[in-house]
Amino acid sequence: MQIQLHDSARRRKVEFTPIDPDNVRVYVCGPTVYDLAHLGNARPVVVFDVLTRYLRRVFPRVTYARNITDVDDKINARSRETGEPISAITARTAADFHADMAALNCLPPDHEPRATETIPEMIAIIERLIANDYAYVAEGHVLFAVSAFAEYGRLSGRDPEEMLAGARVEVAPYKRNPGDFVLWKPSDSETPGWDSPWGRGRPGWHIECSAMSWKFLGEEFDIHGGGQDLLFPHHENELAQSCCAFPGSHFAHFWMHNGMLRVNGEKMSKSLGNFLTVRDILAHGAWAGEAFRLVLLRTHYRSEIDHSQERLEEARAELDDFYALLARVPAGAPLDDLDEVKSLADWALEPLADDLNTPLALARLRDLRTLANIGAVGGSATVVLGRMGRAEAPSAAVAAAALREAAGVLGLLSADPVAWRHGGDGGVDDTAEIEAAIAARLAARKARNWAEADRIRDELTMRGVVLEDGAGGTTWRRS
Ligand SMILES: [Zn+2]
Repeated sequence: MQIQLHDSARRRKVEFTPIDPDNVRVYVCGPTVYDLAHLGNARPVVVFDVLTRYLRRVFPRVTYARNITDVDDKINARSRETGEPISAITARTAADFHADMAALNCLPPDHEPRATETIPEMIAIIERLIANDYAYVAEGHVLFAVSAFAEYGRLSGRDPEEMLAGARVEVAPYKRNPGDFVLWKPSDSETPGWDSPWGRGRPGWHIECSAMSWKFLGEEFDIHGGGQDLLFPHHENELAQSCCAFPGSHFAHFWMHNGMLRVNGEKMSKSLGNFLTVRDILAHGAWAGEAFRLVLLRTHYRSEIDHSQERLEEARAELDDFYALLARVPAGAPLDDLDEVKSLADWALEPLADDLNTPLALARLRDLRTLANIGAVGGSATVVLGRMGRAEAPSAAVAAAALREAAGVLGLLSADPVAWRHGGDGGVDDTAEIEAAIAARLAARKARNWAEADRIRDELTMRGVVLEDGAGGTTWRRS
């Protein structure tokens, strides 16, 4: 399977060949930890979680690094505003971020370096840049001289001259060129700082990622990911720093950028009242984390998403259908059928090789659901089999096992299907109470007390519990 990925630097899809096929290396910019993650922050985490899960299925090893930016002027400002110590803000926010991303079923990266633990590497890169004449010291600051790097602007497709002409920000007097950016800046006694050859100070944001990717992935690695909003200046500057500090290096071979997320048709903003954190979504109930993940994956990662409550509910309804099927078809397939399960799962995942086409992979999961649902008879099965290029339908157990396996690569459908159907709102667990009422209804039916049985059913309906009487007994789910 030849994987094609869209490379932002070349502005087209390119065949993906790893530098080292035995170890694919991926770096993604992580959060600056001063506030709860909002929906836009969650998108790259989910997108690159799917990418790394998929690469792990194809290649023997993947090393995934995603940083935590825990030194930043936004964090310093938050501490001044609230009086909370910086270390408390960053520790709490990082823990919240981990909990939120786990609720979206994102796996932790292999390395999660903190900027404050990578200061020596930052200083080493800055020293190399000064020695190679790409950076200069001015009034306690170290600045990168953009005019020294001929390729500057190429990643984001910007013309340096135009960028400067359009710059309306007040330019610091110590900059030789208005586009020069900070590698290191002085810290007063109130601000976090580290000793350096240029006095006590702290790093600029861009140098942090150059240092952390270098430390954990080397001078060159395969894929650098992040949101579209990071392309300029952050990624342009990372690339300039790393290529100039390590002459001959290309830094990341592929640059992948996910599109932005809007809510109710508008850019999220606190003043518009459409600003949503991941916590706001999770508050809807135990189902909401996976449903939001599905919302994200229903759109191709490079396209913009317009999120709404309706989309979340639609995703929940789709998950309900999937879990209803999985609750009926027991997990596991006969050992003889494992090759068939794998080949069906490979078919469902094939669209991911085409620049991570998750909407098409989801359509194929629906096809597997159709085959598992009807035990492969009837008109819709014929249509699905035609799409697969197969003459014979797999058994329901095989189709369901392939569905589970392929969905796992998307980070979906890994909850217990019975618990999903019973789980509901994530509030008080009244499962035992509901099951006692169902047993009482069964006893009433056995005693031919139909009025009592109906009364219990109506009472359960009122509390949002749907009973389904079948050959194997009564099952239930929340409406
Ligand atoms: Zn970064």
